[in-house]
Parts: sequence; C-alpha cells; structure tokens
Amino acid sequence: MSIDPQLISQMTEWRQHMHRFPECGFDLPLTADFIAEKLESFGIEVTRNVGEKGVVGVLRCGDGSASIGLRADMDALFIHEENQFEHRSQHDGKMHACGHDGHSAMLLGAASHLAQARNFNGTVHFIFQPDEEHGKGAQAMIDDGLFERFQMDAVYGLHNMPGLPEGSFTVRPGSLMASESSFEIVVEGIGGHAAMPHRGVDPIVVGSQIVLALQTIVSRNLSAIEETAVVSATEFVTNGTVNVIPSQVVIKGDCRCFTEDSLSKISESMERIVAGICQSAGAKYQFVFENTFYPTVNSPEQTKHAIRAAEAVLGTENVEGDCLPLTISEDFSSMLRVKPGCYALLGNGVESVGGCALHNPEYDFNDRILEYGARYWVQLVCNQLK
Ligand SMILES: [Zn+2]
Ligand SMILES: [Zn+2]
Repeated sequence: MSIDPQLISQMTEWRQHMHRFPECGFDLPLTADFIAEKLESFGIEVTRNVGEKGVVGVLRCGDGSASIGLRADMDALFIHEENQFEHRSQHDGKMHACGHDGHSAMLLGAASHLAQARNFNGTVHFIFQPDEEHGKGAQAMIDDGLFERFQMDAVYGLHNMPGLPEGSFTVRPGSLMASESSFEIVVEGIGGHAAMPHRGVDPIVVGSQIVLALQTIVSRNLSAIEETAVVSATEFVTNGTVNVIPSQVVIKGDCRCFTEDSLSKISESMERIVAGICQSAGAKYQFVFENTFYPTVNSPEQTKHAIRAAEAVLGTENVEGDCLPLTISEDFSSMLRVKPGCYALLGNGVESVGGCALHNPEYDFNDRILEYGARYWVQLVCNQLK
C-alpha cells in the first residue's frame, strides 16, 4: 500500500501551515476551520463544534456495518518557539511543541487517500480534538455525544515520539501511559511564639510527618508486583517567619500511576494519612485530590490490530509490540475508558530535528514521518473494514 507522492508533499504543506499558526486549548478557530475545509474538499461529511472546537469527518463506503474512529489532536502549547526556520510560529507565545500539527496532517492525509481510493467496506470517523494538553478535549467531545452521534466499534490514536528512530512504532497492550493527578493538603494548626510551641499546634511538624507518610503509599499500599506509581510532594509553604510558628502549611504534589484501581487507592490512602496525622496532633485539614489524566489503557484485541497494521507498513523489525509503560500522560485515555481501542507511538527520529524532546522550544515534528503515519491509518482501516 503506497501513498501518492503529491499527497505526501501536501501533508507537509498542511503540517507546516498549522505549525505557523498554532492555537491552544479549546480556542482553535483557524485550525478547526482549516481541517474542516480540507475534509470537505475531499468530499467527506463534516460535523463541526463537537466538544467546542472538535471536528468529526465521516466517510462511508460499501454496505458494511463495521466502523472505526481515528483520532488526532489539534492544540499547541503556550511556549515561545526558539526555532528560526521558515515555518516557525507566527503566533507569539504559542507553539506546536508536541507535534499535534503533524498528527492532524497525517490524519488529513489518510482521509484524503481513503476518500479517493474508497477501498474499504464500512464507516471511518476522522476525529480532530481540541485541548489535549490540559486533558479536557477528549472528555468534552465525549460529553457532547461523540460516541452516540457517531457509532464506532473502536477508536485509535497515534503520537510521535522523539528519541525513537524515524518510522519505528511502539505500543503495548494494557497500560501504556500513566495518569496525572495533583493534590493539595492544607494543615491548619495554631501558630504562635517560636519559644512556646506547647501553646499551639505546629503545622510544620504535622506537615512533615504527612510528607514522610505519603511515601508509604507506594511502598505499603500498592502491590509490588502489579502496581507501580509515583507520589511526589513538590511544594511545602508556610505562613511562618523566623521566630513565629506558622498557623498553616500548604503541601502540594503530583501522582502518577497506571490503573484506575491504583488511582483510587492512592487518593484514599492519602486522605486517610492526612486525617489520621492531623487528628493525632489536634490539627485541622483540607484535602483536594484532582485527576487531570486517566491512565492510558489499551485494549488487547485492538492493540493486536494496531501491531498488524504497523508491521504491514513499517516492517516487523520496526515494530515493538510490548514496550515498557511511560510515565507521561495523554487524554486519549478518556476515550479508551468508554471505547475499546489502542494508542501507539510513532518514532519522530533520533537526530537533530526529530530527536528534540516534546514540549521543548526547539522541537519540530519530523515531516518525513507523515507518510508512515498516514499509511498506518490507511492500513488499519483496510484491515478492519473489509
Ligand atoms: Zn504535549
Ligand atoms: Zn502531545
């Protein structure tokens, strides 16, 4: 299966155009219009404003009842681009530093190819979502009826990965990426003179015990075999001064884990620790645990389909089907909570262009992988919609 060289150069133009005009969060009028207009020009039926600025293209062929969803993200980051090349950002303070410009261009390329070739039997949904970076866009589309308004058997996503060789593909069944959650603990003590601590309740001593005890969650509440997690207290702020015991300590931090079961164990253990230590010291507390990204958990069957398509396009030697999980997060996880599917990583390269880390002001999506991504999407559709 090959792709017209003219389409490859078009994808490069689209990618660099989106790179020049990055938009963030849900505020993507130019990007969403650009994508919707391209899909319409291929003869694809388009629905706009699904989950604010989300775009869904629907392409039917034959009388088959099978259906598939392919998802790309459209949003950029609030980063000042430091690249000097011609297609650098024209929107000051915004930059496509995660390659979502490339994800959108690859999916547009696949849409263009499939709309012409029409060599499948069933329905393809091209899903372009806003606000991946803050973890709200996928859920916004789901809440706006994505999976009720557009019936699909499974949903697939793809992210570029610097540091992996150009055109290599990596995935695993089960948990591929971690959750991301934050917590805030406010310990209310009774402040006073540093020379007379017995007259108050010192929140620093209470807060310090909490910080140490939080480290027992991973070592004593999670299974050493089945669960891994990171619990980090990252801020400890008091309202005291050199000779004043503070009345309050605020502890903030971050947690990562790989299953929703671990996630609820962590938040429950955390509150139990905070409540117990505060009670024993006579302090009061407030506790907030906020989950931003769920763990990204791939369905076993759809992961097999993803591997099969990637092997056909990239060669068996370039496909790793059982990689180690990653501690970064992805809001495609919200889609995988409600639909079977698979999220996979496509190597962006290891050299100067493709090797620069995601979210770095010098990052750029490697245009040479546009073809691989588009061919993977097309192969997946042809395999699944026979
Ligand atoms: Zn990102
Ligand atoms: Zn990203």
